[in-house]
Amino acid sequence: MMKFREFLPVRRDNPKQVRRYSEHRDELREDFHKRCGYCGDSDYFRMEYYEVDHFAPKEVLKTIGITDYSNLVYSCRSCNNSKRDKWPTEDEHVHNDGSVGFIDPCNADYDRQFERNADGSVVPQTPLGTWMFYTLNLGNPKHRIVWMLTAIKERLELLKSVDLESLDAEQSRAIIELHRQYMTLEDTLRK
Ligand SMILES: [Zn+2]
Repeated sequence: MMKFREFLPVRRDNPKQVRRYSEHRDELREDFHKRCGYCGDSDYFRMEYYEVDHFAPKEVLKTIGITDYSNLVYSCRSCNNSKRDKWPTEDEHVHNDGSVGFIDPCNADYDRQFERNADGSVVPQTPLGTWMFYTLNLGNPKHRIVWMLTAIKERLELLKSVDLESLDAEQSRAIIELHRQYMTLEDTLRK
């Protein structure tokens, strides 16, 4: 098993003043390392599908402002649509009861709820993680594919500086194989 993600997102202390919460999108994108807070998918492959999510949903907010940066999450459409207005505790300040509800993706506890298989699929580790896994539909194969694509892309990036003349036949074959995997996964994602 591998850890769920590399970086814990950290919201900045002094976000700009905004009228609409959507104006925080660029700051959130940066603070969340261009990844969905919930599933960890990089936005590189489908940035247009990334949105600003209210962690405690708008429907339960009483004292937290609708533009309050501390309650916003950079989220892919899959997670945002799956989450919608679900908030089992119905109290904006109570995130979960230990087995049902959510954890803020910027809380280090979030990373204790999940691990990953070698193929990138998310595996829940706790009852609360299991609840979030099903509620956010983290078993959607798209998440595994984006994780694999991101990992392969990082490896291909490293090859940019490799001197082609220095490669032997075996190394060349390995690189072509990596590139084929990448193309196949990308085609699958776009289907
Ligand atoms: Zn997501």
